[in-house]
This record gives sequence, C-alpha cells and structure tokens, in this order.
Amino acid sequence: MLEVQNLSKSFNGEPALRDISLTVPRRVITALIGPSGCGKSTLLRTLIGLLFPDRGTVLFDGEPLSERTVLRIRHRTGYVIQEGGLFPHLTAERNIRLLADRLGRSRRETGERVHELCAITRFPAGALARYPYELSGGQRQRVALMRALLLDPDVLLLDEPLAALDPIVRSSLQQELKQTIERLGKTTVLVTHDLAEAAWFSRDIVLMRAGRIVQRGPISQLRERPAAPFVTEFVRAQRGPHEINGARSR
Ligand code: ADP
Repeated sequence: MLEVQNLSKSFNGEPALRDISLTVPRRVITALIGPSGCGKSTLLRTLIGLLFPDRGTVLFDGEPLSERTVLRIRHRTGYVIQEGGLFPHLTAERNIRLLADRLGRSRRETGERVHELCAITRFPAGALARYPYELSGGQRQRVALMRALLLDPDVLLLDEPLAALDPIVRSSLQQELKQTIERLGKTTVLVTHDLAEAAWFSRDIVLMRAGRIVQRGPISQLRERPAAPFVTEFVRAQRGPHEINGARSR
C-alpha cells in the first residue's frame, strides 16, 4: 500500500532520515518507535507529503508522491498529529467537517458521516457543538480521529495519538482505537515512543534510531533476537515495574 525507497532528509545539514526503505502492508497496523528525535514524525510527514525528501521515493499504491499527486494522495490519507491539532476557535463538528466543506461535499452527506463517526468512535453527538477546550482529552482525541476518518481514507497516519492522555484514559482509548482501526481495516502507521503501546497495537514494530531503521519485527523478536546492542538497551530502558517483577505484556 505504502512503500518508501531510500528516503533521506536533512534539516540545515543535519540528517533526520538516512536511506530509509520500508514497506507498509495493507489493512494492518505498523508501529513506528524509537527515541525522541530519531525521525519518526519526519518519516510520517514525508508519507503524507508535508515534507519532500532530499532523496528517495514514497509510493502510494504504486504511485510516486510528487507535487502533482500530493493533494489527491493526501485526501486518501487520514493524519492525526500529536495533541490532536484541533482548531480552538471551531466547534468539534466544524473541526471534523472542515475538509469536506472546503472540498464542497454535500452538507447533508457530511452531516450523516459525522454522526456515523460519532458511533464508530463512541463520541457523544450532543458534544459536537462544543469547542475543544470544553472537551476532555479523550474526547478531543476522538474528534481528531473522526476528522482523520471523515473522507474514509485508505491510510491512517497516527503520530503519538494518545501521548497527551492520562494513563487510565489512555489505556481504555488504546483498546478502542485498536478495535476501531481493525474493524475499519485501515492501513495504519502509528508512531509511539512507548514499546508496550507499540506491542499492544502491532506485531510489526519498526524500531528507529538516528534516522535509520535498526530492526523490524514483533516484540518477541526485539527481545530475543536483537539486531544490535541498541535494541536491547531500548527494550531494557522501556521496562516497567510489572515486567521487572516477572510479568510480561506480550
Ligand atoms: P521524532 O518524531 O522521532 O521525535 P523528528 O522526526 O521530529 O523525531 O525529528 C528528527 C530530527 O529532525 C530531530 O533532530 C529534529 O530536531 C529535526 N527536525 C524535525 N523537523 C525539523 C524542522 N522542521 N526543522 C529543523 N529540524 C527538524
């Protein structure tokens, strides 16, 4: 569905992505993980054409992403940025339907779609008239997800979608988000810095460091067959107290 070939990108001479090649399979979740600054968000932003690489190609369903194709491809991609990125001066509903309204879609059909998405994401339709500051963190996240899903995209790119939430809300939203993505069968790339979250969402974990992919595989493989000492360091550094006591998440 999505393929990245030999992608490199520098900012002010500092490489952020170094010769990355990656195939993202259809209709499943691929988790992108690594320490802060390793290039996860940059990679996601090149996948949706918000950034263009210095070298390399992004293929969307076999078609190269370029200035000519970027808008069409962007409309087939739902993107949730860190903290949700909602416009504070627009109600939840206006945030969700913004793009459809700009594209001149039928107001009635968009309204029906918004209500369908409320059911999918379990967002109370009565709260659609509220502004982001009048919503809880979990509700804001649902609004951001609804906005990403509005045009029924083929691909979902989620950049730390749950990072801003407190642990209890986060854990219940993790379950809902996974169920929703799997039910809708979207090809998804989910960025997180939390290994337990990556393992919860996916058996296909892509671990990055300093702009490169270090290892790709399920959590068991990262633990038992690390490709480099860094993988072991990263896994160790992420262990929570429950694992130190002997229990394992998956
Ligand atoms: P991550 O998402 O893994 O935390 P990023 O992709 O945000 O990492 O950043 C990778 C590197 O690129 C970092 O060193 C960051 O400072 C740099 N970087 C990212 N975006 C920009 C930008 N717009 N301008 C300059 N440097 C940037």
